[in-house]
Amino acid sequence: MDLTAYSYVVVGSGLMGSVMAERIASQLGERVLVIEKRDHIGGNCYSAEDETTGIEYHRYGTHIFHTSDEKVWNYIRKFTAFNHYQHRVLSNHKDKIYQFPINLETINHFYALTLKPYEVEAFMETIRTDIKNPQNFEEQAISQIGKDLYEAFFKGYTIKQWQVDPKSLPAAIFNRLPFRKNYVDNYFFDRWQGIPQDGYTAIFQRLLADHKITVLTNTDYFEIRDQLKPDTCLIYSGPIDQFFDYKYGKLSWRTLRFEKEVIDKEEYQGNSVINYPDPEVPFTRIHEPRYLHPEREYRKDKTVIFKEYSLPDKGDNPYYPIASTENHRLLNLYKEEAARLPNVFISGRLGDYKYYDMHQTIARALEIFETGIRPLIPTHHAV
Ligand code: UDP
Repeated sequence: MDLTAYSYVVVGSGLMGSVMAERIASQLGERVLVIEKRDHIGGNCYSAEDETTGIEYHRYGTHIFHTSDEKVWNYIRKFTAFNHYQHRVLSNHKDKIYQFPINLETINHFYALTLKPYEVEAFMETIRTDIKNPQNFEEQAISQIGKDLYEAFFKGYTIKQWQVDPKSLPAAIFNRLPFRKNYVDNYFFDRWQGIPQDGYTAIFQRLLADHKITVLTNTDYFEIRDQLKPDTCLIYSGPIDQFFDYKYGKLSWRTLRFEKEVIDKEEYQGNSVINYPDPEVPFTRIHEPRYLHPEREYRKDKTVIFKEYSLPDKGDNPYYPIASTENHRLLNLYKEEAARLPNVFISGRLGDYKYYDMHQTIARALEIFETGIRPLIPTHHAV
């Protein structure tokens, strides 16, 4: 195959890569080559039917699409319809099930109270630790919800998830989760949410369906990069440190491992995700994907569950960037290098080394396309 025939090359077929390929093909009318290391498209959003039960599951962990960004919502719905799934999470602390993130049910259940919403603030004042300027995850947590709730629901989970002292994590990670003074138990605040009706993989098949797009799976960019045209416009969504052959050192990542079990019952845990914050339990959560598609008729004699374990990434399966001073320092060095390369766009969760949700990655891809990618032959639209 003649790789020099492509003026636009995209590395990675996750949301960053697939949205960029779709935009270049449909808006610029140009041919695009998409290079994917894995044997499937879709990055960590990939979904498939479980072979034993036929239940659609997300191979890299449960993904809920949620956004309040109208532009992103209008864009993605060109490629999928969404069902009406609303994400609700439960947390198993000391063999009792609580609603999570913390809401009025969690507080009342935990403290054996029957507070009303208008009484919550005064009660929280009595349990909060007064910290003027919270600097990290732990300080942020205890200044908002107090030590007891923090230790029950956050501390063990966070240590299992990140394997660092929560004092060394940024407050922003705690802020990903809402806190509610009422019984609203929806995980997300966003205006829109749901699961793609035909699964996530179908979105990627549609994003990449244009005949101007060629997808090479099972292909490692680093093995073929010498064969590309030197002035190729490159959109790279892999790890930024690998792009530069780790010249300043390696960024560290967390990865996940899933243990699958098929259970001879229609339902096992009663919810799509139950978290396990206690330090004695080795996994962080159990996923039961049958609840993600309430509109589907699944078999009633079996269900499938996945226990999730968090571990350091050895360099082949990065999921979560780790916010540490050293990683931040390395990232800045790589970013400075990247900024000097004309026609190279490094982005996505791995490229930006940022804890993006799906909607944020799509927004980033649309922004890069609109502000950075230029047509080969300028038309009157191009400035
Ligand atoms: N977290 C926690 N207890 C939980 C769930 C989350 O302490 O039961 C903390 C943990 O540090 C986690 C962060 O909140 O990394 C963000 O959680 P989120 O559900 O957004 O994580 P994701 O789904 O992206 O893994």
